Amino acid sequence: MQGLMMDTQLSVQLILERAKQFFPKKEIITRQANGTHRYTYGDFYKRVLQLASALKQLGIKPGDRVATFAWNNYRHLELYFAIPCIGAVLHTVNIRLAADQIVYIINHAEDQILFFDACFAPLVKHFAPELKTVKHFVAMDESPIEELRAESYEELLASQPTDFVLPKIEDENMAAGLCYTSGTTGHPKGVLYSHRSIFLHSMAICMADMMGLCEKDRAFPVVPMFHANAWGYPFASALVGATQVFPNHFMQPRDIIQLIDQEKVTVTAGVPTIWLGIMALLEHEKFNLENLRLIVIGGSAVPASMIEYFQKGYNIPVVQAWGMTETSPLGSIATVKSNLLSLSQQEQMSYRTKQGIPASCVQIRALDDDGKEVKWDGETRGELQVRGPWVAKSYFNTTERAEAFCDGWFSTGDVVTIDSEGYIAIVDRTKDLIKSGGEWISSVDLEIALLSHPKIQEAAVVAVPHEKWVERPLACVVPKPAFIESFGKEEVLEYLRGQFASWWIPNAVEFVKEIPKTSVGKFDKKRLRVMYQDFKWPGE
Ligand code: AMP
Repeated sequence: MQGLMMDTQLSVQLILERAKQFFPKKEIITRQANGTHRYTYGDFYKRVLQLASALKQLGIKPGDRVATFAWNNYRHLELYFAIPCIGAVLHTVNIRLAADQIVYIINHAEDQILFFDACFAPLVKHFAPELKTVKHFVAMDESPIEELRAESYEELLASQPTDFVLPKIEDENMAAGLCYTSGTTGHPKGVLYSHRSIFLHSMAICMADMMGLCEKDRAFPVVPMFHANAWGYPFASALVGATQVFPNHFMQPRDIIQLIDQEKVTVTAGVPTIWLGIMALLEHEKFNLENLRLIVIGGSAVPASMIEYFQKGYNIPVVQAWGMTETSPLGSIATVKSNLLSLSQQEQMSYRTKQGIPASCVQIRALDDDGKEVKWDGETRGELQVRGPWVAKSYFNTTERAEAFCDGWFSTGDVVTIDSEGYIAIVDRTKDLIKSGGEWISSVDLEIALLSHPKIQEAAVVAVPHEKWVERPLACVVPKPAFIESFGKEEVLEYLRGQFASWWIPNAVEFVKEIPKTSVGKFDKKRLRVMYQDFKWPGE
């Protein structure tokens, strides 16, 4: 039987039109150096049309890639919509990557225009001569930047009509977005998002058992717009007409928490390192967080102590989500199912610290080394594979890591267990596992325990070569400032001894000033491994 339902093509245009038609007075708020920029979805819509018209005039055709190099702000949001709404592809470039990687990514994507925040002009000047396909540079500012021959974004828009007619998106499977993974091996790899995947992913974010994003919300994604579309918040917020709050480059813990307080944010999302910084600040300063109804934390494992901190101290639920650039990113979420609510608080916490059950439409399985599906017993480990309408089918224009896509599944590289309730628990990234005398030690489990210690600010555990055991764990620990003098390595080890088998206990603890971070703010264990590859184990 055919043609039962209308074949409405799901698209970013549908999201844009809905925001303008039903929520024209809702606000988009951006912190700026000279105060706060506020305007409405109604104003935003007109500027998106102006920008769409300008893009056409600059020669952008359907399928062309257009790069952004920017913080979370309203102009970036305009690009988020205008580019896909004329059939082109929004390529969000990670501003924190090394210049050679940025050049590689932009050349590989064959970007036609580079829109950049004016504060990045010196950086752009540095790598611009190496860009092979970029025909226009646009400074997201009032003024042009002569030495880069960059036009001014505002001047570009000023002459454009506010009633530009957007072309019809005929096929929901057309590419709308492109994001490169911060890949730790080989070249960065691009993931193309379609109009359909963005639309369905946005709907998933708004489901009650996911993040339940709704019109009443004032959403503040701390996660950058260059990291997996700020986890989908800009699109999902527009779909439901939620107020959007953006920090621009004001990304220090105090800036973030002030914005949450001042703008009465209800939902926010970011990686654990952000919240570690905020927790340290909240020890000494008071802010009003009573409007916050949900903190979504993902990107790395979330310690129970973090969940408890916000729950007990502020009555704010923290929910952990797992995902990847390749999964748009929402893969799973650790909400507690109703049949588990009769369990003790401690037992419930054991579910909340897992990575959760898959988002609707996402299917999961875990395979052992022989490619056999492991039992869902919460104990047997396997590599997590996922599939679903917002999971990538391949990497963009490369055969690198093509083996990750097989039989309609994507191999995530995460080693997990899955329990009988369907909750995924990440044991480790395959490359972060520590192989000691033929047995595996989970660096994630040790880190989570360390981060729960009241004197520890940051912690990461990495494998270091060992003559007898092949590899042994080394714990790198940043003590909280108040305990720098009084905290000892033996105290760290003693704390772990109470929780883990003796052969899991790190052979050494290194106190460091800071754990290096990746371009998306996670602990950079690859760098740590290199730093400590020649480490001399004490007493050996
Ligand atoms: P990225 O594509 O840069 O966002 O990185 C994706 C990877 O981050 C995943 O494959 C996981 O290893 C890790 N990750 C994401 N969310 C979580 C989480 N909630 N807990 C543990 N690891 C996570």
